[in-house]
Amino acid sequence: MESIAVYPGSFDPITNGHVDIILRSTMIFDKVVVAVAKNYQKDHLFSTEDRVKIIEEVFLGNDKVVVDMFSGLLINYLDIKGVKVIIRGLRAISDFEFEFQLAQINRKLNRKLDTIYMMASEENLYISSKIVKEICMLGGDISKLVPQIVQKHLKEKFFNNF
Ligand code: ADP
Repeated sequence: MESIAVYPGSFDPITNGHVDIILRSTMIFDKVVVAVAKNYQKDHLFSTEDRVKIIEEVFLGNDKVVVDMFSGLLINYLDIKGVKVIIRGLRAISDFEFEFQLAQINRKLNRKLDTIYMMASEENLYISSKIVKEICMLGGDISKLVPQIVQKHLKEKFFNNF
């Protein structure tokens, strides 16, 4: 049977940190579903559809990576998909408390689920979507922080050129 895991997040936009976690996950699972959350409470730069499209562009030709979107509870989405493994990334101790709570809650809601955590690679430890957006908006160099396609979309968004 095919092993599948879901990597949920906002991905606003996808960064080198996310890409690294996804690629490393494809070494363990046959398929990795990158699930973009439609979160109405958060103010996103890119629409859910655009965030999905950008990730699809980044992984074009990689048939181990599937991109999807979901709204509502993650456990309901996993239930519909029949997936039992969630992947998340950990950058620093600061991520730990929130992630620990999230994993516990998800398991309380569904005992059959488990979350696998991957440590961020050293070069990506300080990358977050938020910081990437800030640097780009202020005209800084983001070429080492996001894939080239993402850089193009960000510049288009902020400066309407590429
Ligand atoms: P959220 O909106 O829940 O903060 P994100 O879309 O930012 O989620 O990230 C999804 C997952 O990827 C989270 O588990 C987050 O900790 C992880 N992540 C984000 N940036 C990095 C990075 N640079 N390296 C490793 N993991 C990361």
